[in-house]
Amino acid sequence: MRLDTKLIHGGVFGDEHTGAVSVPIYQVSTYKQEAIGKHKGYEYSRTGNPTREALESLIADLENGKRGFAFASGMAAISTVVSLFDQGDHLVIGDDVYGGTYRVMSNVFNRMGIESTFVDTSRPENVVEAIRPNTRAVLMETPSNPLLKVTDIEAMAAICREKELLLIVDNTFMTPYWQNPLDLGADIVVHSATKYLGGHSDVVAGLVVVKDEELGEKIHFLQNSIGGVLPPHDSWLLIRGMKTLGLRMRQHEANTRELAEWLQKRSDITQVYYPGLSDHPGHDVATKQARGFGGMISFDVGSGERAEQVLQKTRYFTLAESLGAVESLISVPARMTHASIPPQRRQELGITDGLIRISVGVEDIEDLLQDLDQALRA
Ligand SMILES: *Cc1c(COP(=O)(O)O)cnc(C)c1O
Repeated sequence: MRLDTKLIHGGVFGDEHTGAVSVPIYQVSTYKQEAIGKHKGYEYSRTGNPTREALESLIADLENGKRGFAFASGMAAISTVVSLFDQGDHLVIGDDVYGGTYRVMSNVFNRMGIESTFVDTSRPENVVEAIRPNTRAVLMETPSNPLLKVTDIEAMAAICREKELLLIVDNTFMTPYWQNPLDLGADIVVHSATKYLGGHSDVVAGLVVVKDEELGEKIHFLQNSIGGVLPPHDSWLLIRGMKTLGLRMRQHEANTRELAEWLQKRSDITQVYYPGLSDHPGHDVATKQARGFGGMISFDVGSGERAEQVLQKTRYFTLAESLGAVESLISVPARMTHASIPPQRRQELGITDGLIRISVGVEDIEDLLQDLDQALRA
């Protein structure tokens, strides 16, 4: 089955009992047992629910994994995965991972004795240097946020194999439509399905996929023990969103490519960050490991005042956090998602006051360009 077909026919298709072509929403908590312990595979919906399982088998298919797991948010997914580790264990983590990932590692799991070191994973030597005798895993994102730095997944997998570490890849930005970390040697893929997989700014969800059965059993044990599961209705919404993932991702990318080239030609933009541009430092690695470059772009308009002006003047770019939805979203990382980083450190990282991040939607690109043009000229 090819990818666009898998999006429609992967996982569980429809309902055997009625012929319904959409998976039913099993809004149920418990299941009748014919005798003690004798049931049809379901006993309680935290442990297993048919609608959630349809979603879990779909994401497992899309990521070429063995087992999928659905959670109430991306952070619930990540926290459950980190619960694989014990007090005294250490993780090496990307230094520009999602802010919530940084927060849970340095404010929650650190209190339970799970330590983390944050390094720029786009340089593999940084990761090697940070590995200690008690290191158990590397957790990374590629491309990263907001500067779209690219990390070589195969290079990370080679390091992890040698040191017997688990490689965990947050694949939220690329989605399985463009990138399959398990095929490149990762052990665990996590997603904030709130973003592209859902795609319509209407559901908060997280997904995990593994290719190893034993690891799958451990994650299922943790999912059932901790209990942060995705409810049936949200599971159904996510399946519905994922049917059009291919259509949306192709449009997101076509629009982003046009916008990137348009921005690059302008003399009033100092820097454009998009891995699809041939002069982006991660372009070659991105080309090697992914089928596309995604719909996230950042660019520098020179100053904080100018960034603020652009945000105020655009009509079709909604000022909001989050990403990956059909509508274009615009933000200034220095003032929003990355505001908690000290100004000096932000400058060093390249997250300037004039840096604008756009999650390019699927609107008509001519309208988007016209709108941005008038906002930049204002
Ligand atoms: C949003 C996001 C998360 C967290 O997901 P939630 O669904 O908001 O809990 C994790 N990783 C990345 C890359 C994200 O963008």
